[in-house]
Amino acid sequence: MRIPWTGLLLNRTAEPGLRIRDRESMLIKKIRKSLEDIENGDYGICEDCGKDISTERLKARPVTSFCIRCKTKRETLEKLTGK
Ligand SMILES: [Zn+2]
Repeated sequence: MRIPWTGLLLNRTAEPGLRIRDRESMLIKKIRKSLEDIENGDYGICEDCGKDISTERLKARPVTSFCIRCKTKRETLEKLTGK
C-alpha cells in the first residue's frame, strides 16, 4: 500500500529545532504507531475487532487504530461515561 503522507511527515519531524506542542506530539505518537504498524504489516487492522479498516476511513483518518464500528462504539461509551 502506498501511503502518501509518510514522506511529508518524515520531512517535518526531521526539521532541526522544531518545537512540538502537546497536541502535535500526541498526533506524532499516533503517526509513529501507524508507521510501526506499517512495518509490522498490521496497518489498517482494527485493534478492537481485528478486522480491516476501510480504505475510505484510512484516507480520512490515516492514524486511526479502530474501524468505524469500534470507533463509534468507543465514542458513544466516552459520551456516556462523560470523558
Ligand atoms: Zn473494529
